[in-house]
Amino acid sequence: MKANIRNLSLDEISQILIAQGESKFRAKQVYEWIWQKSATDFSDMTNLSKDLRDKLSEGFEFKEISEHMIQKSSDGTIKIGFKTFDNRDIEGVMIPMEERMTACVSSQVGCSLACAFCATGFLKRERNLDFYEIYDQVVSLNKMALAEYGKPLSNIVYMGMGEPLLNYENVVRSIRMINSPIGLQMSAKRITVSTSGIVRGIKKLADEGLNINLALSLHAPNNEKRNEIMDINNSNPIEELIPAMNYFFEKTGNRITFEYILFDKFNDTMQDARELAVLCKKVPCFVNLIEYNKVEGVEYSKSKNENRDAFFHYLRENGIPSVVRRSRGKDIDAACGQLANKIKDL
Ligand code: SAH
Ligand code: SF4
Repeated sequence: MKANIRNLSLDEISQILIAQGESKFRAKQVYEWIWQKSATDFSDMTNLSKDLRDKLSEGFEFKEISEHMIQKSSDGTIKIGFKTFDNRDIEGVMIPMEERMTACVSSQVGCSLACAFCATGFLKRERNLDFYEIYDQVVSLNKMALAEYGKPLSNIVYMGMGEPLLNYENVVRSIRMINSPIGLQMSAKRITVSTSGIVRGIKKLADEGLNINLALSLHAPNNEKRNEIMDINNSNPIEELIPAMNYFFEKTGNRITFEYILFDKFNDTMQDARELAVLCKKVPCFVNLIEYNKVEGVEYSKSKNENRDAFFHYLRENGIPSVVRRSRGKDIDAACGQLANKIKDL
């Protein structure tokens, strides 16, 4: 069986090539082809000898993702459906905004956590994505941004399918590759990892020495309500999340973003706003109030506008930095929580 060349570090490639009588410099060229120039075939590596290219393709293979379907929303949002080498479907989204060009990438095929309101949660977790499968989504979305809007990506959010902190090593490795001069050379400051709240993962991420941002999908102001919609809260309750997030802030200096979907009559009352404000005083944070995107078969629905506005004003008046997030890409099921491979049925 051929080995996956993209799993090898530069050092490992160097060792292999040196053992075959090639120079270290050749290894660097191969590495650049793979990561800087996104080659997916040894025959593309035109500055290597034919002999070396042949030798490499005998021993190694690529396992790249391929674009399978592209959909554009009326608001400019673009969703790309990708196929993995083993024929699984994942999705990435590019969201153009006035000042930003944001890519939203998947970290797993499906998700194991089954939050009550999320379309991805209805799919079983099939497998983790390898780090280069996450990285490839970013490269593709970056090319798409340049082709469609003449601008490269400015931000990356790990908010597609899957729970990033349950695919920890690959997520961190993908971030390092996005940062790296051989990769996209994008600053970690522009990257946000969103989690449903894995205490151990948050602490570990704090210790990585990466200057990234963390978003917590909070969605409820207390354990009782959060347990009801997010099963993960039973084993990772709010009182354990708070010290983990404070530790993250201590280590990175970056405030935590609380994502809070407003559900009609479930978590959008003034009592909920009061409880949320109390919680927010315990962690340096911002609050994103999110409009719920309808998912078929879910009993929750989005808040009425007047309740949303009252909730928002309460937070602002109490000194909690908050914004109301407009949903993007709804008409193509590219909005938060709508990624569920509907693309397959087209
Ligand atoms: N698993 C991670 C990251 C992916 S989900 C997490 O849960 O944080 C990205 C965001 O979309 C999360 O905040 C999630 O709670 C939210 N979301 C899920 N379903 C949604 C829906 N139908 N409408 C709006 N947001 C949704
Ligand atoms: Fe998974 Fe996040 Fe959806 Fe929950 S909200 S099911 S953790 S993708």
